[in-house]
Amino acid sequence: MSLGTGFKKVIDMTGDSLVPTATKERLAWVDNDGVTFKSHIDGSRHRFNPEISMSIQHQLGADIIFAFDELTTLHDSRAYQIESLELRTHPWAERSLAAHQQLTADRTNKPYQALFGVVQGAQHEDLRRLSARFLAGLDFDGFGLGGALTKDGLAEIVRWMVEELPENKPRHMLGISEPNDIFECIENGADTFDCVSPARVGRNGALYLSTGRINITNTKFRDDYEPLDSQCDCYTCQNYSRAYLNHLFKARELLANTLATIHNERFIVRLVNDIRLSINEQTYNTFKERWISRYYGT
Ligand SMILES: [Zn+2]
Repeated sequence: MSLGTGFKKVIDMTGDSLVPTATKERLAWVDNDGVTFKSHIDGSRHRFNPEISMSIQHQLGADIIFAFDELTTLHDSRAYQIESLELRTHPWAERSLAAHQQLTADRTNKPYQALFGVVQGAQHEDLRRLSARFLAGLDFDGFGLGGALTKDGLAEIVRWMVEELPENKPRHMLGISEPNDIFECIENGADTFDCVSPARVGRNGALYLSTGRINITNTKFRDDYEPLDSQCDCYTCQNYSRAYLNHLFKARELLANTLATIHNERFIVRLVNDIRLSINEQTYNTFKERWISRYYGT
């Protein structure tokens, strides 16, 4: 849904006139039962609702399944955010849970698959807390902290949700991967993360180094035979030079995307591993200060 709507531009909010400057063709239509998508590849129509979503995720064998929810945008009115929670995200959470429990009961020979509810509520404190409290009352295995988030105030929004959620269940941050955001979210109670961004920016040649983000397509790397990051233990850094990666991007070789993705994913996983270690060793604050100043040069 986040891709289908172009994140904030082109969703028809059930006929609401709030559709802001629609710059792309509309690809998703929301109603109180579910969402209809139009494929950006061949124009074919696809229908998703809580039951279909649970069935697909069970069949995929996902270890962690997320409840079907409506991703609203920061442009939506407060009234729309309330309606979205009451008529869609919360009833859909209950339907997702019921479908998940049925599918789990039907497939006793399979390893257990966990279901996480997804908290919405955009930038509104009372709605975030309301949504978290509602979902906390249902039998989910963990919770996704999702939806429209502003970079400004991200930490605060995470704190509102976490304060309402049970201590003994994991909180998963959806769609966050900028390193300073990861620090902020962890400080406020996020346990795990996922995001397409490290792979997506990697495919454009943007690579994370301990000294900050670089673009490997830059001419200055053309004759640079050093590894991408001498501190990194990933396959790309162990086997290829900056010059070779620069060449692959310039030549539009698809291997460039694979090698860049391997490195960026490893970078983010290592960051989180190191943060966890620093928490255990009670050196988090000094670790963070040193890491941030090296990466952002501040
Ligand atoms: Zn690497």
